[in-house]
Amino acid sequence: MNSSVPTIQPPAVWEKLLDGRFDSKHPGRTLWNLFSDQRGRVAAAVTLFIIKQSPGSLLPLAVGMIIDALTKGGEGAFQKILWIAGVYFLLLLQNPLVHTSFVRLMSGALRHMQFNLRSALVERLQQLSITFYEEKQTSALQTKLLRDVDAIDGLCRHLMHTGLNGLLVITYVTVIALVKQPLLALYFLVTVPAGVALLKLFDRRFKEQYKAMRIETEQMNARVGEMLQMLPVTRAHGLESIETRSVRGVFERIRERGLQVDTLTEFFASSSWFTFMCFQLACLVFSAWLVIQHRISIGDAVMYHTYFGMLIGAVQQFLSVFPALAQGADAVRSLGEVLEAEHLERNDGKPSAPVPLSGEIIFENVTFNYPRGREVALKEINLHIKAGETIAFVGESGAGKSTLVNLAIGFRQPTIGKIFLDGHDLRELDLRTYRRQIGVVPQTTLLFNGTLRENVTYGLEKISEDLLWKILADANLAEFVRALPQGLDTPLGESGTQLSGGQRQRLAIARALVRDPRIVILDEATSALDTESERLVQEALVRLTTGRTTLIVAHRFSTIRHAHRVIVLHGGKIVEQGTHAELLAREGHFFRLAQLQSVTTNQT
Ligand code: ADP
Repeated sequence: MNSSVPTIQPPAVWEKLLDGRFDSKHPGRTLWNLFSDQRGRVAAAVTLFIIKQSPGSLLPLAVGMIIDALTKGGEGAFQKILWIAGVYFLLLLQNPLVHTSFVRLMSGALRHMQFNLRSALVERLQQLSITFYEEKQTSALQTKLLRDVDAIDGLCRHLMHTGLNGLLVITYVTVIALVKQPLLALYFLVTVPAGVALLKLFDRRFKEQYKAMRIETEQMNARVGEMLQMLPVTRAHGLESIETRSVRGVFERIRERGLQVDTLTEFFASSSWFTFMCFQLACLVFSAWLVIQHRISIGDAVMYHTYFGMLIGAVQQFLSVFPALAQGADAVRSLGEVLEAEHLERNDGKPSAPVPLSGEIIFENVTFNYPRGREVALKEINLHIKAGETIAFVGESGAGKSTLVNLAIGFRQPTIGKIFLDGHDLRELDLRTYRRQIGVVPQTTLLFNGTLRENVTYGLEKISEDLLWKILADANLAEFVRALPQGLDTPLGESGTQLSGGQRQRLAIARALVRDPRIVILDEATSALDTESERLVQEALVRLTTGRTTLIVAHRFSTIRHAHRVIVLHGGKIVEQGTHAELLAREGHFFRLAQLQSVTTNQT
C-alpha cells in the first residue's frame, strides 16, 4: 500500500465569493452586489465615460453659440468662433485615450464579475446533493452556466454603454435647458414620465415572454443533449425520422416564442419612437413660437431643437435597455435555481472522518424512500460490515443494491435509522473527508479528454512515475500501456485512443488503486467480457480489494465467489446472507438467482 498519497486541497479563494450577495428575488440589488468588489473601478469608468462623451454632448451648445455669433455679426465674431472651435478641438483630443481607458476599466470590472459568477456556480454545482442533479438535466445546467451568465454580462455592458449615455444626455440637456430657458426644461421633463408610463405598459409582458423564452431554450438544449446521447440507440432501431420530428417540435416552439419576443420588443420600440417624435414636432413648433415672441434667439432655437432630438434619442436608448433588463433579471432568477438551491450537502463545520479509516460500516435499522419514489426502496436494513470485509450485494433489478451503496457513500441520507462509519454517525461527518478515502469503480468508466496518466491520477498531483507503474501493473494494465507508442501520455477521451471494455474497467481499477482507498465501492459492469479479459479484470480486482472494506454490486459469479459474505436483497429487504457456498447449499433465494444466471450464461 502506498502511504504517501497526496490529498486534494479544497479550493479556498473563491469559496465565499457570493456569500449573501445573491438574491434572485431582487435582481437589481443582486447586480449591484455582484460588483461590490469592483466599485472603485466602476466609479472610475463612469467618470471617464462622462469626460469622453463631452464632445458629443456639448456640440449643440457650440453650434448654437456659433449661430448666435454669426447672426449678431460685428467685429469679433470670427475670433469668437475660432475660440469656440479651439476649445471644442481640445475636447475632441482627449477622446481616443479616455475612451480606451474607459473600455479597459469597464471590461475589467465586467470580466471579473463574470469570472466570479461562473466560479460560484461551479463551486455550488460541486456542493449540491445528488437529488438536485436528478431533477435537472445536465444540458439545462450548462445553459445556465454559459447563456445566463452571458445574458447578465450583456445586460451590464448595455447598461454601461447605452444606459449610461442615455442618462448622461438626459442630465446634460435638462441642466442646459434649466440654465438657459426653464420653460423649455419643463417641457423636456415631460418626456421622462411618458417613458416611464410606456415601460409600465409593457413591463409584465416582457417579464413573461423572457421567462418563457429562457425555459424553452433550456428545454431545447436539454433535448438536443438527450438526442446526441441517444444517437446510437436511435440509429440502431431505425427511429431517425421520429427522433428528428420530435426535436423539430422543440425547435418549432422556440421559433414561435422567438417571434413573439421579437414582435413585442419591436412594438415597444416603435411605440416609444412614435410617442417621442410627436414630442419633437411639438417642440419645434413651441420653440419657433418662442422665437417669434422674441423670447429666445434663433441660435437658441436651433440648440434646443438639437438637444431635444438628442434627448429623445437618449430616452429611447434608455428604454431600449429595458428588454435587456428584463432578460438579465430573468437570468439572475435562473441562476438562483443553482446558487440558492436547497439540496445542499452541508459539510462545513463538521468534523473530518478519521484518517486513515479502518473501514467499518454499520447500517442500523435503515429505511429509505426516494422523495418521488412510490415504494420504500430499503426497509429496516441491519448490517455490520467489518473493516477489510468484502461484501457482495445481489438481487433482482430494483431490489435496492445501488440505493444501499449510495447510502454508504453518503449520497443520500436514511429516511429512518443511522449509518455509522468507524463508530461515527455519517450524518455528523464532513463527507468530503470520508469520500477522499473511497475508491469507486463504476459500471461504466468515464474518460475525459486528457492523457492516460491524467485519467488514472484524476485530481491527484505528484504521483511518482514508479508508483504509477506499480499501480498499472496491479491493475493488469502495464503491458498494454508499455506497448502504446506514447505510453502514459497517450491521449484518451472522445478524441483520443479508444479502449476496449476490459481495458476501461482496468483503468477504473487503476484510478481507484492510485487513491489507496480504505473503502472500495464496486458497481460491477454487466457487459460480458471474453475469458482472458475477464481473468485480467478479476485479478486486478482481487489486488484492489485485498485488505480494504469492499462493497460490490455484483452481477458476476466470479466476483461473488471471492466475497467474504453475500447479501441477498429482495424488495428492499435483506432476505439471505452468508458465503457463496452456504447460500447455494440453502437452496433459497440466492440459489434460484444463481440458477437463473447460469441459464443465461450458458445461453450466451
Ligand atoms: P438495484 O440497484 O437493485 O437495481 P435500486 O437501488 O436502483 O435497485 O432501486 C431500488 C428501488 O428504488 C427501485 O424500486 C427503484 O425503482 C427505486 N428507485 C431507484 N432510484 C430512484 C429514484 N431516483 N427515484 C425514485 N425511485 C428510485
